Amino acid sequence: MSPDKYIKNYIDGALVPALSTNYIDNVNPAIGQVYSHIPDSDTDDVQRAYEAAERAFPTWSKMGMQKRFRILARLADIIEQNLDDFAAAESIDSGKPFKTALSIDIPRAHQNIRFFATAILHFASESHHMEGEAVNFTLRQPIGIVGCISPWNLPLYLFTWKIAPALAAGNCVVAKPSEITPMTAYMLSKACIEAGLPNGVLNIVHGEGPKAGQAIIEHPKIKAISFTGGTNTGRKIAATAAPMFKKLSLELGGKNPNIIFADCDFDQMILTTLRSSFSNNGQICLCGSRIYVERPIYERFKEEFVKKTQLMKVGDPFSEVTDLGAISSKAHLEKIINCINLAEVEGGNMLCGSNEPLRMKGEYEQGYFLRPVVFEGLPIDCRTNQEEIFGPVVTITPFDTEEEVLAYANSTDYGLSATVWTKDISRAQRISESLQAGIVWVNCWLLRDLRTPFGGVKHSGVGREGGLEALRFFTEPKNVCIKY
Ligand code: NAD
Repeated sequence: MSPDKYIKNYIDGALVPALSTNYIDNVNPAIGQVYSHIPDSDTDDVQRAYEAAERAFPTWSKMGMQKRFRILARLADIIEQNLDDFAAAESIDSGKPFKTALSIDIPRAHQNIRFFATAILHFASESHHMEGEAVNFTLRQPIGIVGCISPWNLPLYLFTWKIAPALAAGNCVVAKPSEITPMTAYMLSKACIEAGLPNGVLNIVHGEGPKAGQAIIEHPKIKAISFTGGTNTGRKIAATAAPMFKKLSLELGGKNPNIIFADCDFDQMILTTLRSSFSNNGQICLCGSRIYVERPIYERFKEEFVKKTQLMKVGDPFSEVTDLGAISSKAHLEKIINCINLAEVEGGNMLCGSNEPLRMKGEYEQGYFLRPVVFEGLPIDCRTNQEEIFGPVVTITPFDTEEEVLAYANSTDYGLSATVWTKDISRAQRISESLQAGIVWVNCWLLRDLRTPFGGVKHSGVGREGGLEALRFFTEPKNVCIKY
């Protein structure tokens, strides 16, 4: 299963170009060059995808969950059997280290599909008995045709996280991956054909957000939208979809606090904090970019954390020793550099890293590389500490009391995740209760159980994905009351 130069849409079971036959360039960020092209789809392609999905819906939604399970399980197996090809494609498309795609992104993609293929077999609804009079039971039926739109940071991982529960629940889907990382979604289309997914059940339309993405949001008959991406895009999507009374799941940005108390397991905390700060170049919505450290260990933390950050290897995504690959795109690299410059203007002291791209030699000379950056000395309410950067940039700040650090942690508009490091279980519980976040990790980070609710509060989103929450989102509850 090898990547092609010209990516195609997947509509009605066939691989087809956009109706306009226009293409957009797809860049390999590690070498800074165009290496493939994606269909520049528009409203007409989305309409074609919708019509295919509409034709497929009666059969798919009624074929029974056992049959849907079998097809989806086969799809998961095909991805797993082609792990290396998928991982290499993901690495080339996004700039992330191959070893990350191989050990995290692609395994999680086939796990997502298998998880929801089996979850639907265990999905049950409620009944409410009115003694001696009637029984109510809740039918949970597929919604119909739904739209799924995903970002570039964890391309196949997040694409399948949406598509799998939608399909398992009996919906047909019109989906759009990010135009920055389309390749593994294209490979997924081929895997769907191989798995025998009936035509039109899943349709993948490639193209730009404001054009192909917006056409999905605006489509009058696409009844639910599951979106992961930036908060500003989420706001635009809500503005279009809410007045159309569409069901909406919005997984948006974050500016997550990492709270470190002096009684923590220091070595474990340092290793995990390096990961939570810089994994995938800090381009994970769950990365902890604001690090608050209790004063008695602040200096020790600073010295150790900066030393270890400086040792991180940036470069060749296919090298075993690489920790940080390329930033996903030139535009994103420039955005991160602007944020670093702003942090300096705001009075930040850069302890390591640089506001200049890292110039590699040879093949990667034109790639978008950056050394990880640590700032200290920034006010809590400055833009650097309030706005999402989504890059390898963190700030560190000392604190003295629980009350103070909670105020710092809850000071932003975001509320996706938070991490707490302490051996005091009562304190961990107190802090977890008071944090304004959808997910709290205590003494760990990114430890994921797919059954748990996933999502954010405040400007980090609306609704929850994961486990039964996702199956509830992708089904419409209908109460049936039978009097006896
Ligand atoms: P983005 O919002 O620019 O794009 C996300 C997707 O939306 C892409 O497929 C894009 O083409 C599409 N899109 C853009 N404009 C659109 C429009 N008007 N209508 C419909 N679709 C449109 O986000 P990004 O830069 O790809 O991803 C980074 C952001 O995603 C960060 O803010 C990050 O925090 C967030 N994110 C959140 C989660 C989460 O689970 N909460 C997970 C990963 C990433």
